[in-house]
Amino acid sequence: MKKQFLFIASGLCIGLSACTSQTTGAKTEGSAGSNQATAEEVWKDYFVGNILFEDKAPQSEGSRIYHSIIVDPQAYIAEQARTVLNTLYYSPADSIVPVNNLHYKLEDTDGVSAKGGGGGEIGIFYSTRHIEKSFANNDTAKVFFETRGVLLHELTHAYQLEPQGIGSYGTNKVFWAFIEGMADAVRVANGGFNGEEDRPKGGNYMDGYRRAGYFFVWLRDNKDPDFLRKFNRSTLEIIPWSFDEAIKLVLGKEYQIDALWQEYQVAMGDINS
Ligand SMILES: [Zn+2]
Repeated sequence: MKKQFLFIASGLCIGLSACTSQTTGAKTEGSAGSNQATAEEVWKDYFVGNILFEDKAPQSEGSRIYHSIIVDPQAYIAEQARTVLNTLYYSPADSIVPVNNLHYKLEDTDGVSAKGGGGGEIGIFYSTRHIEKSFANNDTAKVFFETRGVLLHELTHAYQLEPQGIGSYGTNKVFWAFIEGMADAVRVANGGFNGEEDRPKGGNYMDGYRRAGYFFVWLRDNKDPDFLRKFNRSTLEIIPWSFDEAIKLVLGKEYQIDALWQEYQVAMGDINS
């Protein structure tokens, strides 16, 4: 089951431009996460994996831009990996998905970015064409902001726990919505989107990505400061996993996922009660 999923997951997000959504503005947002100084201390000795950086498109304009904004890719990716780990877990003592090798590639290809692989061997590509598009107005801050946001999303896929007992990313919508929702939640939680400007209105948490991600961060901000960590860990305890059972485990029996979604939409002014 696990092995089968890992195989299927090797195609995670590939070719889907929706995998990591593009941001539009260059406005930055402060980290809404936990205390960064403490996080650095907690995770400084954790083995995030061997970061293997490979530029497969060194002649491209996108590559030139990438290297102009990120001087030391290996160190930068490792730093963002620790940010992701700190958002998903309390400490290295937790039950964490092990990553042995993280092969990060710049590629001259369509799409944005995607994670593949499994079993501790992770591959992530980042499109130099996407970098070029993000740099359309010669806005260095914007392309850096986008690069970090996309990286936070894909790194979440490397370290996040996965639902059990309900099929796989490719076969089950709940599984998929949780995986993609958490990846964007980690991005939202660490200032990787332009706040309210990038928050989609309407839809449903089952749409995954930002619709779920902003909702999960709202639950963290309004219901439980450790919501994201507990939600991630719920996959180890709720088998077969479901949104509603996970919510009950994390927040209490009296809560219900659809009622919370309603409450969130009303609170944000997206709908009238
Ligand atoms: Zn994704």
